[in-house]
Amino acid sequence: MKEGIHPKFQQVEVVCACGNKFTTGSIKNGIKVEVCSQCHPFYTGSKRLLVEEGGRVDKFKKKYGMK
Ligand SMILES: [Zn+2]
Repeated sequence: MKEGIHPKFQQVEVVCACGNKFTTGSIKNGIKVEVCSQCHPFYTGSKRLLVEEGGRVDKFKKKYGMK
């Protein structure tokens, strides 16, 4: 592996939309994410996912005239 070809891999701060911050290895200088392990529905059971799913169901019902 020759130097100068690969971007520098470094520790960067990742800022989540929920306000959580953590560091990870990346070639970028900074990362912003919308969900992280602290607020992702998969980890927290947050209602956010349920709200999204509910919205889709409502659209589905309206589309097919169901109530
Ligand atoms: Zn988060």
